Amino acid sequence: MYSKTENKAKKNIAILFFILFSITLYSQKKLCVHDPLENIEVAPTKKGNPKIGGTFGCVRIGSVKKCHHKKFNKEHRGLDLKAKRGTKLFSIHSGIVTKSITGYTDGNKYNNSKDALGNYLKIKSKINGKNVTILYGHLQKNMLSKGDSVKQGQLIGLTGITGNAWNVDHPHVHIKVVENSQTIDPCKYIGTSINKDGSINKTCDE
Ligand SMILES: [Zn+2]
Repeated sequence: MYSKTENKAKKNIAILFFILFSITLYSQKKLCVHDPLENIEVAPTKKGNPKIGGTFGCVRIGSVKKCHHKKFNKEHRGLDLKAKRGTKLFSIHSGIVTKSITGYTDGNKYNNSKDALGNYLKIKSKINGKNVTILYGHLQKNMLSKGDSVKQGQLIGLTGITGNAWNVDHPHVHIKVVENSQTIDPCKYIGTSINKDGSINKTCDE
């Protein structure tokens, strides 16, 4: 037989474990429908505005004129999301793989100059009547091949540092979105917006 105090202590320990368990469950980030990564965070840069240097547009160079110069186009035509090597990558939308480039060794700085995007995947979707192609670049591993069909939220690869990913200080995935032949800000299809300080507005709504 346990004494009353022993029973009480056991009960308290059980409650404590329950609270810890609940905190662990709660703190695990929920993946929103269009999230390519578990944690969406803009990759900062040294050039331009460091906090939003990973976003779409003329963010890495002060002068817009210089940025849009025909010869030296410095516009960042994608969105860089911070991701340490080997981070799980999920498909933003359902679609068909139209390109799967492999063969680049992750983290090998001197073996990655041939293709700026390194290992990458291109997934074509039809969204609200529009042809939308989403590209995921600088990957460590592609888990899909050309012609494969993909479901939204499906694990499609692992992020890495291949191609010219070395130009940015942080390991990241480069996401490029082409909507009806026009390169647009990927935020539209991730269902998010980015503030001037680089913070992200995101809800898990459809
Ligand atoms: Zn990029």
